[in-house]
Amino acid sequence: MSTARSAQVTAPGPAEELAALVASAEHARTQGAYQEGRVLAERAAELAARLGDDARLALALRLVCNQAVRLGEHEDAARAGRRAVAASERAGDVAGSVDALNLLALTYLELGLFEEALTAIEQALATVATLEDHELRSGTFNRAGSVRSTLGDVAAAAAMFDRAEAELRALGTAAAPETEFCFLTNTTDLVIQSAARGDDVPVDELWAGVARARRALELAESSGNPYRVALSHLNAGCVLAHLDGEAAEASFTAAVDLSRAHGYRSLELGVLEARAQDAQRRGDHRGALTLLDEVVALAEETHESSVALAAHRTASASWEALGDFRRALDSYRRYHELEARARTQTAEVRARLLGVGEELHQLRHEAAELERRVLEDALTGIGNRRLFDEVVPGLLAAARPGDQLCVALLDVDHFKAVNDTFGHATGDVVLRTLGRLLRESVRRDDVLVRLGGEEFAVVCVLPEPGLAEQLAETCRARIEAHDWTEVAAGLRVTASVGVVTADAPLRAGVDDLVASADGLLYAAKAAGRNRVHALALGQDLAQAERRVPGQLLDRARDDVQLP
Ligand code: GH3
Ligand code: MG
Ligand code: MG
Repeated sequence: MSTARSAQVTAPGPAEELAALVASAEHARTQGAYQEGRVLAERAAELAARLGDDARLALALRLVCNQAVRLGEHEDAARAGRRAVAASERAGDVAGSVDALNLLALTYLELGLFEEALTAIEQALATVATLEDHELRSGTFNRAGSVRSTLGDVAAAAAMFDRAEAELRALGTAAAPETEFCFLTNTTDLVIQSAARGDDVPVDELWAGVARARRALELAESSGNPYRVALSHLNAGCVLAHLDGEAAEASFTAAVDLSRAHGYRSLELGVLEARAQDAQRRGDHRGALTLLDEVVALAEETHESSVALAAHRTASASWEALGDFRRALDSYRRYHELEARARTQTAEVRARLLGVGEELHQLRHEAAELERRVLEDALTGIGNRRLFDEVVPGLLAAARPGDQLCVALLDVDHFKAVNDTFGHATGDVVLRTLGRLLRESVRRDDVLVRLGGEEFAVVCVLPEPGLAEQLAETCRARIEAHDWTEVAAGLRVTASVGVVTADAPLRAGVDDLVASADGLLYAAKAAGRNRVHALALGQDLAQAERRVPGQLLDRARDDVQLP
């Protein structure tokens, strides 16, 4: 349709051709034909640059930016936005530069460049204050609101939206439908984000959100822009999910159908994500996980890594709720990996766009470090204390009644003497070897961590209490039997273990179980080291206090020969 328009221009001079291209690109944009509009806008920008027409160049670049961002091509969008700001400034077009800064802030948000987004929108706010343009002011306050709401500052966002609304009111019926649409959409989004975070949003505010989404839908339908229609359906669905499940589903379906028909992949992704979150909230974890698989697949296809990583985190919670601890942990790890990778990617984008190479190098290094350090002990390669803290409560909570919850604490005997006699480096080799020996002694699903120093823990679920003592004894015996002279001539290593089991479900906290195991460990030390002290606590953890009296434990009594 828009190509037909440009074809109407007969034998145009370059200036006319440029004007026609810009008009066609703008027309395509209002119709949601972003692919086509973007191509036209790029041609317009090329021509404007050749003609040295900065004002039109800025306009064309804004059209590129605006449409590339809806197509999910955020980096191209940002590049066009930056050029648009510069061209507007050269042309002395203040309003144009505010508009370009608004768009640039949006693309920066999409790219995860939050500081840059804030800087751009602050600059737009400062500039627009000098203009008597209510339309542009409303749009700028509106964008400032969505920047702040994305950064999680709901109060500041709400204040900005109030100002956007005041400007709209000053315009009255003269307000462009597009300005009103953006206002309605962003304020609905604020409600959606609050509700999704678990804030207690009053029902009448939710209904007000639905009303705004529906009014936006009307505006979108009368402007004939299917992107905006689909977006309004999605927003209505997100709010309705908290009010009326069936109506929400109808809105989601409408949004998906339109998004697929027009190739709006990011919108389609948004709908899938919203549906998954809704299923999880309703406790339909299987349904949520099926949807999250789809989210991850589509997010990988469209390179929306922030969506993919959020999906893994959501999936982890659903696996945990279903008691599948192993899969919960896998999803959680995946989330952390992607988070670390996303940080590097953000830095790469920043470096490409803004030329910040040193920072990129630094962040690459940090991200790799983070990935490694998150749940793993650097020395031994087994889990670390953070893994212990984060996954043990879930593991124990997931056990079925009648299962035995087992916590074993293992501490190397006279390790200080190993260090003193053979040196710290040898001590490290011993710790690393211990990590390997223990990993070979436990099952794949058992949690094995180095808690710190020369202390290790195994946490697992077993069918009967006697097995815990067997497991601990296997570990102890394996350490004793290992040929440590490979590490250093004359070296001998032993360890003491305290192991407790309790009946699932656990009545007391994990800490009580650990404290009991700790008491037993010290008892094993006091009794001569290189031994296992085990106790089945049954249901009554309080009893453990009496059966493992701390005052009997004498850690100072050394009755094992030093190596
Ligand atoms: P006990 O049998 O009572 O447990 O005696 P111990 O010597 O093992 O216990 P103590 O807590 O007195 O000493 C622990 C030693 O472990 C002291 C510390 O230097 C050493 N250590 C802690 N972390 C590391 C490490 O990462 N590498 C090495 N080589 N040594 C470590
Ligand atoms: Mg020790
Ligand atoms: Mg110790």
